[in-house]
Amino acid sequence: MSISLTDRLQSELQGLRDSGLLIHPRVLESPNRAHSRIAGQDVINLASNNYLGFADHPVIKERAAAYLRDWGAGAGAVRTIAGTMQIHEDFEEQLARFKHTGSALVLHSGFTTNQGVLGTVLKEGDVVISDELNHASIIDGLRLTKATKKIYKHADMDDLERALRENDTDGLKLVVTDGVFSMDGDIAPLDRIVAVARRYGAVTYVDDAHGSGVLGEAGRGTVHHFGFDQEDDVIQVGTLSKAWGVVGGYAAGHADLRELLINRARPYLFSTAQPPAVVGALSAAIDLVQEDPSFMKRLWDNTHYFKAEIERLGFDHLGSETPITPVIFGEASAAFEASRMLLDRGIFAVGLGFPTVPKDLARIRNIITAEHTREDLDQALAAYAEVGRELGVIR
Ligand SMILES: *Cc1c(COP(=O)(O)O)cnc(C)c1O
Repeated sequence: MSISLTDRLQSELQGLRDSGLLIHPRVLESPNRAHSRIAGQDVINLASNNYLGFADHPVIKERAAAYLRDWGAGAGAVRTIAGTMQIHEDFEEQLARFKHTGSALVLHSGFTTNQGVLGTVLKEGDVVISDELNHASIIDGLRLTKATKKIYKHADMDDLERALRENDTDGLKLVVTDGVFSMDGDIAPLDRIVAVARRYGAVTYVDDAHGSGVLGEAGRGTVHHFGFDQEDDVIQVGTLSKAWGVVGGYAAGHADLRELLINRARPYLFSTAQPPAVVGALSAAIDLVQEDPSFMKRLWDNTHYFKAEIERLGFDHLGSETPITPVIFGEASAAFEASRMLLDRGIFAVGLGFPTVPKDLARIRNIITAEHTREDLDQALAAYAEVGRELGVIR
């Protein structure tokens, strides 16, 4: 007799419950903003990826509404059948101009972009070398390829070079890294990664989900932050779901990249195009960040202020260099308790423990945004001071 679905579901859930890994997402009762509502309470939101405050921005919603009205609720088909509208083409041109790349293609999410691009570009006989802390969607994307997969130690150039030296091929060599790592908020040393990769004839692939709209002039991303521009041996992928405030993913780079993806990438070929309102919102987001430099300025002013004050209180933020600000509590139980205590004080910030982060480095991950006011940050810092002292993490 085979196991029943009931037994399977219950035993899986019990396993998660027993190891303390069962998740209950908190429900927002308002738009995702610097101030949101949770369980009937107004909270200062330090948990979102809404870096620029675009998720509920009126200018962006207005263009979304216009595209909804003029182009419809849905695209109606996958893009190769009848789903490609003029607005999809125009937005991709806008994105390529913004990124200074030869071409750009938009997919449904950052997650599917990694599946589509890695699954398309890599073939049997190729070698791919991936940072050990790369995002889950990269790991899943690599599972779709027959390329030889190697891991290098996080941001360790000697280890990357060793892997490149030991794994030569006549096929394509690809070095894969996040642009900004989402747990510690550190920036990949792309200047050195690209230099090492070039020495071995390898292409660099940057997943810039947390760097897009955050780093580089007007948020052009980590690649631009390091002074690279039109590079044919760098593939940039990223999300349109974080700083850009909506949903989607992009691949940008070599002039021929887009055309190959259109012909081969399975999420492009077998999944319906993005709805018009999403395209409208995204095109407005890319315009807005270039027209109004105050978004980037507020994001970074707030980031520098919050980090300096967290440090002054005596917390460890692991030297993070980006708006992602981990605050270390040690044991997972302490981080989860701190998250509950902060919520009691009107601060929404999520605790992360093992296996998401190393055992003794459980933390609360804060993401500072352009939308937070100085008062918001001061209120959050006051709550951190109380909670940190009560839990004995600071004095
Ligand atoms: C968030 C994230 C993704 C997924 O992006 P979505 O658009 O939300 O699917 C992919 N890669 C990295 C590095 C991320 O941080």
